[in-house]
Amino acid sequence: VRRVVVVGAGMAGVQTAVALREQGFKGSVTLIGAEPHQPYDRPPLSKAVLLGKAEGSAFDVDFEALDIDLQLGREALGVRPLEHELDTATGPEPYDVLVIATGAEPIQLPGAEGVPGVHLLRTLDDAERLRPVLAQQHDIVVVGAGWIGAEFATAAREAGCAVTVVEAADRPLAGALPAEVAARMASWYADSGASLRTHARVERIEPGAVVLDDGSRVPADAVVVGIGARPATAWLAGSGIALGAHHEIVADDHLRTSVPDVYAVGDCASFPSGRYEDRLLVHHWDNALQGPRTVAANIIGEAPAAYDPVPYFWSEQFGRFVQYVGHHAPADATVWRGDPAGASWSVCWLHENRLVALLAVGRPRDLAQARRLIEAGTPMDPEALADASKPLKAA
Ligand code: FAD
Repeated sequence: VRRVVVVGAGMAGVQTAVALREQGFKGSVTLIGAEPHQPYDRPPLSKAVLLGKAEGSAFDVDFEALDIDLQLGREALGVRPLEHELDTATGPEPYDVLVIATGAEPIQLPGAEGVPGVHLLRTLDDAERLRPVLAQQHDIVVVGAGWIGAEFATAAREAGCAVTVVEAADRPLAGALPAEVAARMASWYADSGASLRTHARVERIEPGAVVLDDGSRVPADAVVVGIGARPATAWLAGSGIALGAHHEIVADDHLRTSVPDVYAVGDCASFPSGRYEDRLLVHHWDNALQGPRTVAANIIGEAPAAYDPVPYFWSEQFGRFVQYVGHHAPADATVWRGDPAGASWSVCWLHENRLVALLAVGRPRDLAQARRLIEAGTPMDPEALADASKPLKAA
């Protein structure tokens, strides 16, 4: 392999380029990204960057020193695998190996596209448009009580805005966590002074208000939509690269796509997890850090082990540090550590007495211990596990 082209200059694309150099790849590395900005990290966008506590979140990577040819403001439009060419807005780019890391794009509320005062939160440009909205202490309606909605509501409350969060389900994080766990997080909204309205759908957006399906009008100088993201793969139509039901690139356990010499990594791709006997589509930062190491090792011909991470993510919301490790789908038992009405607690998910996932609120030590126990697959004693005063350890 002489020429690697990486498309998408977010976390996964940048990490792939860097990992190639770290692992000794001597050929050319071209990193192509649609956004005009120096590559940056997204988690701070809904936290410090939004509040103006940090100017930006550019990655601390010296692309020139690493001999990475960084091409910003260049959008990829298609792939022709037989010719080994990527088509872009400024002409074709030949590759020996192509890595697709185009991430995900936020889902817009139907009918809200182009409506003044309606915002999404995915890019640096989005965050910069939202900063003055917070500074003006507007009335804000957040659509969706997911991870982004909760983090945005946190920042908006901190900035002194009146915040109503509108959620179609009966609880926050309905798509991410089981009901008994997510229900514990509903009170966090009110504690912070935000109003959470569940079972509520947006009927339409009018100047100055959001009208809900029960006819009620919620004052809104601005609306922030946080109803999920979908892999940015529309540009691959006709390429022959297999996509899945969620528009994601269907990768194998080495992050190879269905087409030779093309890999996919980060938010845009799903992969089979041997550990969980499930196909995972992970939209979190850690996956965009770990996956690229496997891709780079494959490219340089190291024949690495299958990509089979224990997924991890964190969220900072309503003054709490929330962390999750593992995958709770296969669980057959749940064990609580600490009082979920209190400031810090964890919940453990077990499958045949082995830990498969843990959610920690303000208990980072539980998280660190759980990660090791999940990786090792050690049998646990559920009774001992429930004692929050003791560390998590094997039976
Ligand atoms: P992206 O970061 O989406 O990067 C993909 C890049 O590809 C983009 O720059 C895009 O412009 C570019 N691109 C797309 N299509 C094309 C094309 N056709 N041609 C060229 N370039 C293209 N995760 C956590 O674990 N914890 C957090 O607290 C957390 N907070 C977050 C807060 C916010 C506001 C957001 C948006 C995400 C957050 N995440 C968090 C998720 C995490 O940021 C993502 O999982 C991570 O950014 C994925 O990296 P990626 O490189 O796969 O995709």
